Order: sequence, then structure tokens, then C-alpha cells
Amino acid sequence: MSDTSNAPADDLLEFAPEDGAPDRPGTPSAVRPWYVLVVDDDEDVHATTRFALGGARILGRPVELIHAHSAAEAWARLGEVKDIAVALIDVVMETPDAGLRLVRELREAGLREMRIVLRTGQPGYAPEVSVISSYEIDDYRTKSELTQTRLLTVLTATIRAYDQIRTISRSRAGLEMIVESATKLFTRTNLELFSRGVLTQIAALLRVPPNGLVCVRSLAGAEIMIVSAAGGFAQYAGRPLSALPDGPLVDLIADLPRHADPVVEGGFMMMHFGAEPGGELIAVIEAGSEIADADRTLLRLFATNIAIGFENQALIDRLDHMAHVDPVFDVPNLNAFETALSERLADDQIECRTALVHLESHASIVAGYGLRVARSYLRAIYAALAEYEMGALVVAMIGDGTFALIGDASRLDPARLHAIVTAAYKTDGVEIASTATSALLDLDAAFGDDTAAAMRALAAALQHVRRTRRNESVVFDATMRAESDRRSALQRELKRTAPDGEGFAVHLQPKIEIATGRVVGAEALLRWRYDGRAVSPAEFIPIAEATGLTEALTDFVVTEVGRWARARAKSGATPLPVAVNLSPIDLGRQGFAARLIERVRGAGLSPATIEFEVTEGVAMQSTPWAIGQLQILKDSGFRIALDDFGTGYSSLGNFGDFPIDTLKIDRKFITPLAVAHAQESLAAVILSMTQSLRVGCVAEGVETEEQCKALQLLGCEVAQGYLFGKPADIGEFDALFGVK
Ligand code: C2E
Ligand code: MG
Ligand code: MG
Repeated sequence: MSDTSNAPADDLLEFAPEDGAPDRPGTPSAVRPWYVLVVDDDEDVHATTRFALGGARILGRPVELIHAHSAAEAWARLGEVKDIAVALIDVVMETPDAGLRLVRELREAGLREMRIVLRTGQPGYAPEVSVISSYEIDDYRTKSELTQTRLLTVLTATIRAYDQIRTISRSRAGLEMIVESATKLFTRTNLELFSRGVLTQIAALLRVPPNGLVCVRSLAGAEIMIVSAAGGFAQYAGRPLSALPDGPLVDLIADLPRHADPVVEGGFMMMHFGAEPGGELIAVIEAGSEIADADRTLLRLFATNIAIGFENQALIDRLDHMAHVDPVFDVPNLNAFETALSERLADDQIECRTALVHLESHASIVAGYGLRVARSYLRAIYAALAEYEMGALVVAMIGDGTFALIGDASRLDPARLHAIVTAAYKTDGVEIASTATSALLDLDAAFGDDTAAAMRALAAALQHVRRTRRNESVVFDATMRAESDRRSALQRELKRTAPDGEGFAVHLQPKIEIATGRVVGAEALLRWRYDGRAVSPAEFIPIAEATGLTEALTDFVVTEVGRWARARAKSGATPLPVAVNLSPIDLGRQGFAARLIERVRGAGLSPATIEFEVTEGVAMQSTPWAIGQLQILKDSGFRIALDDFGTGYSSLGNFGDFPIDTLKIDRKFITPLAVAHAQESLAAVILSMTQSLRVGCVAEGVETEEQCKALQLLGCEVAQGYLFGKPADIGEFDALFGVK
């Protein structure tokens, strides 16, 4: 929003009338009298002047005398009546040159338009010629010279001069006003502000109070709308013209001829200001019964000038519309949503709730039914959302299959919203429903006026809900925000530290041959400390995966294992195979296997000393490409273990073409194991499957002797778990487990 919206509504009032108009609002200029100031210490002179000018009209207007008996009193009268046309000043008053002094002071005080006639009783007191010219004295007469006729002649001449000077200076001020107002008006960014400015300007030009309205008459015949109004009309702003009380004004406006000439009727000046294809602007202002020719000229000039402004305004409105409306769906877009959001944030009065809705199946709907059907479907959802009585301020489409809403905190309900966006809609003959994730966020004071921060929070909320509670509609509360904030903090720190392994360590956990208790291998497990505390891999690995940092972490593990293995080799120890966990995400990366092999070689490791674990999910979700990467590793001689087996959804017969050597039975099948029921356990089923598939098997998470015995009974040869040893720092592993 531009700053004009914050400007006081009447910031153009600096052009308010500067002459005597406010004294007599709305008095038509034609009936206003000419004010003539008589300054004389002789009361008789006042009386004869009054007598001489009684009932006189000069240039069609009456003359009104204002009397002062001293220079001081003259100043007082001048303070009361601003537009005095002529001053008849006595030269000799309290001092012989009091009148001359007054003249000098008047001119020096900036009173340059008023005409001055000097009168004196003593002819000998004539001022010097230089005084007459430098103080702009129009005439100098002895009192006896000024007969009634003479006085009228002199006054007529000076009043005419005064009128001309006034017209010229008013025109100059008016022109300046027009030029300046146009530039000011053109910066106004909406029609309401713009038209309010127009009203203020016309009032200033006519020197009347801004008591009127500006309306838009559409050429298509739609109802005339009042876009701005002031003074006695203020209450009608934003309403149709028909809202005005019955009277001739409504018809006068509706029938106003389409030309830029001001029309004065019924005490109003009406004027037509520029048209563009869609409509025309009409200004109406209370302005007496007559408008001076000079003012008409100025108004016309003003009208032509701001017609451009109106066209610009119409253009701005159109651009504004385009910027805030989605061109395909013709509904509010992201800009509109952000604008509404910033308006909401600026208003502390209303408790608002925002929501982002993401249709999870949108891409599949486009793929399955085509773009046209997908669009009709989105339109149907939009229509349903728009009808949802949640005090909606805006429902916007902000991206492919993503809606943004602002509503009342009390009425925008997650369950109701979920029902609307996941309902089936019949469009183009097909019935479609989508799964959807929605994050609802209350606009609390914490955002202040920061729209961008609120947008980020809302986007983060949706991201968090999609990650943690996909396909649900959830109010993003303080707990979720704390989780999401922590995740962001961890993510930032991981980005910083993962590349050089700062804060990371590798632990090894032994794999035991159950029959002998011998350590036959180890699993490398990554450890990370953040802010002085250990963060579980279950927390940081998914973040690293989402941020593309796992390859760097794998490198770190491989390097550490390599260093350890070299040290062991130096001391003549038998090589011990170590399993390194790989992220399924990495397997989807081009060239990953080749880079890994390179890294392994660089660390001095060989396929005999290192193997890789991938979680079961990789078998189900990964692309053929990922399986290809595993194949490359396997073809290079590395052994591959399928980790956490049983936690995914792979069917037992799914591994025909999956290049694995070992299955690791997940801890959840080991925990319930007991010797008495071992044969009926799921672990027994998995074990018999590995035997028929001829792949190795490792039991994970063995914690008790009972579990160990049961496994032995079932023919499981290798196990790993706290019963044999917890993961230990790689530097202490050998000593702790007595491996040589
Ligand atoms: P995982 O590969 O299945 O590792 C086994 C997890 O079980 C480890 O948890 C280990 O400490 C824990 N564990 C081992 N024996 C027992 C037991 O007897 N009882 C119980 N309750 N737990 C046991 P950890 O170290 O927290 O690692 C969790 C997961 O994080 C790992 O599961 C693995 O998927 C992942 N991870 C760990 N290090 C790395 C790594 O370097 N790279 C990748 N990509 N993932 C890793
Ligand atoms: Mg593992
Ligand atoms: Mg595991």
C-alpha cells in the first residue's frame, strides 16, 4: 500500500480558501457587497460618505461601508473583514501624517490588492509623488473636491481595478492549485481517495466549504455510485445515489449533460469530470447560485486536467484488479491475500484466523483427468469455500491446488474446512475428491504489522503440518510452532555444520554371533550435539534428508570409519566389517553410488570392510533408478542390508529383484519374543523367509537373554542390541568390546 492511505483524509485542505469566504459560506459572489473602509477622525465625514453612497451599486453589487476613526481602529476592522476593496483614508488624524503612515503599514503588511484613496481637509498636505507611487495610492483628493458624483466615479474606478487585480491573483492561485492538485491527485491510489481530493480541490477553487459528493456514473447504465462525500453528505459515501433523500439533486445528477461546463442549479454546482470507457466522474458541490466567469474557466481547466488523472485512476484500478485476481480462475490471488492479511494485521480489533489448504492429490488429478477437469474441480472447491460462512474476508487461490483463507477465529473451523476441501465434487461429468492438508494459524499480536512474517509463519505451518500430520486439518498451535521453530533452528545449524562434521561423532554398535558371542561386525551410528545436547538421529536425519545434507553426513561417517580401520590395520588387528546407514533419498541422486565408492576407496576401505544399510522403504518407494544405484554398489562387491524390516509395507515376496544380502528384523518383532511362543511369532515368519530367499539375517534391538534364546531357537545367527552393547564412541569401541 502506498503511504497515501495513511495520510489524513483531508491532506489536500492546505488549499482551503484564503480569503473572506469562510465568513459567509456559500454566499454567491454576485450578491456580495463591495466593502469600502472609511478611515477618518471626523464623524461628519463618515456621515456625508454614508449619505453620498447610500443605496449605491457599483458594477452591479451594493457598497457596504466599514467605519474606522483612527489607524488602530482601521486595523481592527481589517481583521474582521478580509476582502475590503477600497479604503478611503484621511491623511491628518491623530498626527498630521497618521493616514500616510497607515497606508505604508498596510502595504508593508502585504495588503496589496486593496485600493487606497487618500482624502485630506488641508490641500497643503499633499504627499510627495514618490509616496503615491511606492504605496500604490490610487487617488488623492481634498474632501471638498469629493462631491457625491465624484466619489462614485472614484470608487467605481478603484473597485474595477480591485476586481481585476483580484481576478488575476485568484486565477494565478487557482492555476497553481490546479497544477499542484493534479500532481497530488495522481499519486492517489484508489478511486475513493482520488475523488475525495477532487472534491476538496473544487471547494478550494470556488472558495466554499467542501460540502458535496463525487459519484461515478457508469455508461452501461448501472446504478450511480457515490465514491466519496464530505460535509453534510459524508454519510452517503460508498452508497448508491438513490440513497440520497428525495429531491431534485438525484435527477439533476442523473441527467447532467456530458460536457465539462459546470452547471449551477438548485444551489449546487455540478460538473462532469472526464470519462473513460467504463464510466464518468461527476462532482457535486453546494455553491450558491452563480459562478463567476473566471471561476468557470478555472473549473473547466481543472476538469480537463484531472480527466487525465481519472483515466490514470481507472488504469490503476484495472492494474490493481489484474494484480489481485487470478487470470484463469478470476478469483483473488496471492497478492489479494497478502493485501487482506496486511489489512487484518493493521486492525487489532478482530480476532482473525488464516488457513492454507493444500490439495495433496492435485497433481494426480491433473495427470489423471487433464487440466481442464482439474480446473473445474478447483472452481467447485473455491465456490464451496466462498460460501462457507466463516466471516471470510478473503478466499484466495495462491498456487496449484493451494487455497489461502482469512476468517473469524471463532468460525473458521478445522473440521468444517476439512470436510469442504475433501468432499467429492462432480465436475464435467466426473466426481472427484482429493486428500488435503490444512494448517490454520491465528493472527496473534506477535506478528505486529509484519505481513511477510505472517506469510512465512503460515507457509511454515503448512509445511510442518504436511510433514507431521499430512491429510489432516490442524490448528497450528504454540506446541506445533515450537516444534517447527526447533526444526528450523536444527536445519540452519545442520546446514552450517554438516559440511565439515562440526559437532558430529560416529558411534559403533557391535553385531554378535549368537552361538559364540563373538563380535562379527559393527554398525556405524551418527551422533550430533547441538546447543550442548545430543540430538537423536531419528530427529536430525530426516531434517538432513529434507535439506540434502545426508550425502555430506555419509561422507563424514565413511571418513571416520576409514580412519578407525586404518589405525586397526596398523596395529595388526583383523578387519571388522562396519555397516554404514544410507538415506534412501541419496540413492535417488544421480551418480551417488559412484561418488560413494570413490569416497570409500579414498578412506582406504574395501567391500570386505564396509557394508551399507538401507531402510525397507527404499524397496517400496524408490525409483528403479535408486535400485540401480544399489545394484552398482552390490556389483562393486559391497554387501547391502535391508534395515528395519517389517516397519514398511513390502510384501514378503517383493525382494526377487532387490539386490540385498541381509535382512535386519526390526526391534518391534524382537521385543515381544519369548522362548515359549517363539515358533508362532512374526519373527519366525521373517526368519523362515530369509532362509528360503537365502539372505542373511540380523535381529535388531535385542535387549534380553530371553529374546536371544528365542532367536537362537528360530535359527537366527546374528544379533545386535543393548544386551550385547550400546553404541559406543568409535575410539573406545575396540577396547570396550575386546575386538582385536
Ligand atoms: P537403525 O539403523 O535401525 O539403527 C539402530 C537404532 O537402534 C540406533 O538408534 C540404535 O542406537 C538403536 N538400538 C540398537 N540396539 C538397541 C536396543 O537394544 N534397544 C533399543 N531401544 N534401541 C537400540 P539411533 O542411533 O538413535 O539411530 C536411529 C536411526 O537413525 C538409525 O536406525 C538409522 O536409521 C538412522 N541413522 C543413524 N545414523 C545414521 C547415519 O549415519 N546415516 C543415516 N542415513 N542414518 C542414520
Ligand atoms: Mg541401521
Ligand atoms: Mg534398524
